[in-house]
Amino acid sequence: MFWSYSDAVVSVPLDEKVVALTYDDGPNPPHTQALLEMLAQHGVRATFFLKGRNVEAFPESVQPVARAGHEIGNHSYSHRPMLSLSQSAMREELVRTSDLIENLLGQRPVLFRPPYGLQGPGLKMAVDELGMPSILMNSNGADWEETDPGLIANKILESIAPGDIILLHDGHGDVDEPAAQQSRAPSVAATGIVIEALKARGYRFVTVSELMALDAFLPIRLGITARGQTRSE
Ligand SMILES: [Zn+2]
Repeated sequence: MFWSYSDAVVSVPLDEKVVALTYDDGPNPPHTQALLEMLAQHGVRATFFLKGRNVEAFPESVQPVARAGHEIGNHSYSHRPMLSLSQSAMREELVRTSDLIENLLGQRPVLFRPPYGLQGPGLKMAVDELGMPSILMNSNGADWEETDPGLIANKILESIAPGDIILLHDGHGDVDEPAAQQSRAPSVAATGIVIEALKARGYRFVTVSELMALDAFLPIRLGITARGQTRSE
């Protein structure tokens, strides 16, 4: 079973019908808010990988996500491809974003998702040093190019399997100016379709940390101890 790429978590091998919805590039009001309403309506919790630059621009949008019980992860500060950065610059991107989130929530995120899913050896060393597992995905709605909610949902539904990590977006990674973020209404609508269809197939939804906790051997494979620290060897 293919569960990891370059020591990043792509999915979790499970028999139980459990999946994790994840949303990248926010916070992006009002689309983050619309998504929170959609998820609350279905009683589903998800994981939001926040861009530090947007956390700084829209601090008031972060607390409602955490308060609703969703998990908050780190998606770098600037959303530049990590492969183009020095190791110290990568570390700075992660630490700056975790600091911003901790200042608002009193808690540091434990998970990191690299922009564009690009994970190289330098990034691996940086996330190991910080004890933050890199989380990729094995299911997505291609909502960066598709704008029809039904087609976004179908792309996910046609191949979904237990333990999958699903990628959608409530913001835009490529937009530097946080205030210039465009609509994510199709992703919000697709979320409702995916939840209803998967619930009908007997699936339940958990956060990424909860999904990872269902696989007792995952921390060992990732080289993470119970304290969340990476082993030194
Ligand atoms: Zn992104």
